[in-house]
Amino acid sequence: MTKESLKSSAFILRCLNYAESDLIVTFYSRDFGKIKGMAKGAKKSKKRFVNVFEPFSLTKIIFSHQKSDSLAFIESCEIIDHYSNIRGDLEKTLIASYFVDLTDNFSPEGKANTNVFELLQNFLLLLSNEAATESTLRFFEMHLLKLTGFEPTLDHCIRCKAPVTNGTSYYFHPREGGIKCAACARPERYDLPISAGTVRTLLLGKDVDVEKIKLITLSDSLAMECRSILTGFITHVLRREVKSFHVLEQVRKMNFSKT
Ligand SMILES: [Zn+2]
Repeated sequence: MTKESLKSSAFILRCLNYAESDLIVTFYSRDFGKIKGMAKGAKKSKKRFVNVFEPFSLTKIIFSHQKSDSLAFIESCEIIDHYSNIRGDLEKTLIASYFVDLTDNFSPEGKANTNVFELLQNFLLLLSNEAATESTLRFFEMHLLKLTGFEPTLDHCIRCKAPVTNGTSYYFHPREGGIKCAACARPERYDLPISAGTVRTLLLGKDVDVEKIKLITLSDSLAMECRSILTGFITHVLRREVKSFHVLEQVRKMNFSKT
């Protein structure tokens, strides 16, 4: 591979200290997907990289590869949007951190997906301009699962194929990636049923226009069921808990919670 300089807009996903003055930066670029690169001297050079490597900042990045499988070399990085409205609010900052963390976890390196880039862009804008709500969180998860090919089956029972019907109870099976109706599920003692309303909310969430999310308020019981399904499913797919989600939940419990 030639050492050609590549340019793209990109969100910073995370940073890792390396040696005394370098940073290893993972970013999600519009044109090349997730890239991991080295910012030489980033901790010392105030001129080349002025506080640009903050998680979820939108930047314009120029980088090159020495070899196809090596870390990229970050030549320059400039801020496009620092999202100061989000950073001024603890809960919003934690939600935005969760968005980039989840995007990082669901994105293989070097595979461009403009839809995922735009998803981040749209949801950060929403978070910047509107109150943080449960629907913002859950609908981001649903959109991301859909765009990365991990969408759970929610429109019909995965066993008997009967479509979702109001008034019926369902059970979600993370391992099988979908819902079963009460007749097919054979629930065990601790399995909790979910309502058709929850299932429909999640189905709406994966397709709804981002501008309309601010109009959707989830009741406490809907929010709780949606959260338990998606958290369980995401943990199952990734085979681990997403740390930033945990932090967000802890802080919300300390009464930062809105709805
Ligand atoms: Zn069934």
